[in-house]
Formats: sequence, structure tokens, C-alpha cells
Amino acid sequence: MPDPKPPARTACPICGKPATPRERPFCSPRCAQIDLGRWFGETYRIPTSTKDDPDSDVTG
Ligand SMILES: [Zn+2]
Repeated sequence: MPDPKPPARTACPICGKPATPRERPFCSPRCAQIDLGRWFGETYRIPTSTKDDPDSDVTG
């Protein structure tokens, strides 16, 4: 059954502004980038339990 709620206006998860169809669910490419950066930031922050890892001591 159809919901009487108004058209879904996605709010930008970064700044809260109404998202644009183009940059959904963000309001601008900038906010999309910010979200992307967060994603990568978390991805790169992999918790390592090994301390004496020879691989982590790579130089050059
Ligand atoms: Zn935004």
C-alpha cells in the first residue's frame, strides 16, 4: 500500500543538506569525496596484532 509520506529527499550524510540526484546521497562532489576519504581512512587503519612484522619495516 502506498505511503502518504512526501517524496524521499535524501539528506547529505556529511552536511545534512538535501542531496542532489547527481551526487546522491550527497549534496555535492565535495561531500562525496569527504565520505570516500573516511572510507579509505578506515580501510587503511587495519588493526595489526603482530608487532615484529618484517613486512612493516619496508624501506624504499
Ligand atoms: Zn553535503
